[in-house]
Amino acid sequence: MIFRTRFAPSPTGPLHLGHAYSALLAHDQARANNGFFHLRMDDIDQSRARAHWVDQIVEDLTWLGVTWYGPIWSQNARSKQYRNALQRLWDLGLLYSCTCTRKDIKEAANAPQEGAPLIGPDGLVYPGTCRAELFGSLPEHTVLRLNIYKSLKLFGIDEISFLDGIQHHTKSADQITSEIGDIVVARKDMAASYHLSIVVDDADQKITQIIRGEDLREATFIHILLQKILGFATPIYQHHRLIRDDAGKRLAKRDDARAIAKYREDGISPMDVKRMVGL
Ligand code: GLU
Ligand code: ZN
Repeated sequence: MIFRTRFAPSPTGPLHLGHAYSALLAHDQARANNGFFHLRMDDIDQSRARAHWVDQIVEDLTWLGVTWYGPIWSQNARSKQYRNALQRLWDLGLLYSCTCTRKDIKEAANAPQEGAPLIGPDGLVYPGTCRAELFGSLPEHTVLRLNIYKSLKLFGIDEISFLDGIQHHTKSADQITSEIGDIVVARKDMAASYHLSIVVDDADQKITQIIRGEDLREATFIHILLQKILGFATPIYQHHRLIRDDAGKRLAKRDDARAIAKYREDGISPMDVKRMVGL
């Protein structure tokens, strides 16, 4: 079997130690398996993506000795593919537009009869305020949500499970409905949400292995569901530990002190970086 993996950073900040670890793991595994390693920019959110971060990420990866196969994909050039996927979800009657503000969702989710609001891999579990059967053509420039309950029913899905390394992760249809809820698949000013775009990209690029941080493990349930609905193959998922700072806090984009560029400035070598992340 062909081994094909990718690294898909969002160019919204510098490459930090956590990204370096992710990229090196995927790159080295592709190499060990005689496979392919692709680089993709997860730049669907044009309000946050910046060209200079793309340049910086490319420069830092190259410095680390990471090389990729083929051109670097940009989601910016792929809105047609996302639109096609949305059209299929729409034709199946699984989408509805949502006009709720963040505040509306918070208030509805906080209603006393609802209990404590749940945060899932797509943020606050959507209380379903706008859920409706819609007819006509696929709306544009609006938030579109996927009716999760209807999707699971339509495809006869009782549970979603995946093997992550040696560990099985499973959620029942009830858990998916209550812990994840109706996710956003398109936004007002974005051709697709992160979840939809990444799933379409992975399918179009024929990715067989996904190696990424464990902060995305819960999102994998969403991605597998989208793959089932859209008729895409499900890759093998592997979620790695997160690199934390000295205080045990997870590294975020803002932690520029951990940026690879900073380490380079300080005269640290690629070997040192590998050692620092435990490779
Ligand atoms: N752009 C995402 C991130 O940096 C990665 C998404 C993925 O690998 O699936 O967290
Ligand atoms: Zn709504």
